[in-house]
Amino acid sequence: MKKTDLKKTIMGVDVGGTKIAFALVSSGRLMTPIYTVKTPKGEKILNVVGKFYEKFARKYLISGVGISTAGMVSDEGRIVGSTGNIPGWQGTKVKEILQKQYRLPIIVENDANAAAYAEYQIGSARGANPLLMITLGTGVGGGIVVNGKLVRGAHFAGGEIGHIKLSYTKQRLCTCGRYDCLEAYASGNGLFSLIKHYFPDKYKKITTRGLFKLTKSKNKDSIFAIRAIEDWHFYIAEGICNLFQVFDPEKIILSGGLSEEVDIKYLTKQTAQMVLPALEKSIRIEKSILGNDAGLLGAALLASQSL
Ligand SMILES: [Zn+2]
Repeated sequence: MKKTDLKKTIMGVDVGGTKIAFALVSSGRLMTPIYTVKTPKGEKILNVVGKFYEKFARKYLISGVGISTAGMVSDEGRIVGSTGNIPGWQGTKVKEILQKQYRLPIIVENDANAAAYAEYQIGSARGANPLLMITLGTGVGGGIVVNGKLVRGAHFAGGEIGHIKLSYTKQRLCTCGRYDCLEAYASGNGLFSLIKHYFPDKYKKITTRGLFKLTKSKNKDSIFAIRAIEDWHFYIAEGICNLFQVFDPEKIILSGGLSEEVDIKYLTKQTAQMVLPALEKSIRIEKSILGNDAGLLGAALLASQSL
C-alpha cells in the first residue's frame, strides 16, 4: 500500500443491527467524532449513508467510502447472507447503487472481516501472520487475515467461525438452525444455556453479566457461577484449538462485548492443553484494543487500499 493513498480521506461506515456509525478516517485514524443514527430498514440505509456523505463532503475532499456491515457480502458489494436482523437489507446492491450515485470508490465488507483487517493494520496484532480474530457477543463471528489479506472465501463465508462444530450429539440448537455450532456455546446465548444448566430454579433472574458478578459472591452460587464460566472458557478454547490446527495463527485477537470477561491466562492454558503438544507454547491470545471502532476503521483502511 502506498503511503500517499493511506493519507487520503475516507468516509468509514459501520452498519449494525441497531445503529449505523459514521466518521472520516485518514491513515487509520479518526479525523472526526463518530456519529451514530438508528438503523433504518433495508435500502433506506443507503439514503442515510448519502446524507452523511453530502454533509462531510461540504468540508472535506473525500476519496472513497468504506462500509462495514452485518451480513455476508459478495465481491460486488451485495449483501448476500444473514444480516443481523436488518429487515430488507439482504440482496441490496450496496456498492453498485452508491457508486452510481456518488461516482466514488466504494468498498463493502462484512463487519467482522473489516474489524480483523483493522486489527492487522493498526491494532495490537499489527502484521501478525496469520491473524485470527474471534468476536464474542450475542453471536460469535470472526475474521482471518493470511499474508495480509482477508480470507473471504469462494462463497463469501470465510471467517464465519461461529458455525464450526463443537459436538456431534445435537445438544444445542444454533441460530443458524443447525446444532452444536461454536456460537451455540461461546456466545451470550451459549452463556445463557449454562446459566439454565447450573441454576435451573432461578435462571430467569440471572443475566449473563450477572453470572460474572456471581463468581465473586460469598454464597454457594459462586461455585456454580465459576463452573459455568470455566465451561464457557473451555468451549472458546475448543473453538480456538480447531482453528489453530487449521491456520496456526501468530496471534488470536478476541473482540466483542463478552471478550471483556475472558480470562486470557486461563483460556491460553486451556487451549494449550488441547492443541498438538508441539504447539502448546505457541498460543498468543490478546484482547482487541480497537473495540467497537474496528469495523469502521477496517472498512476505511480497505477503501484506502483500493484507491
Ligand atoms: Zn450455527
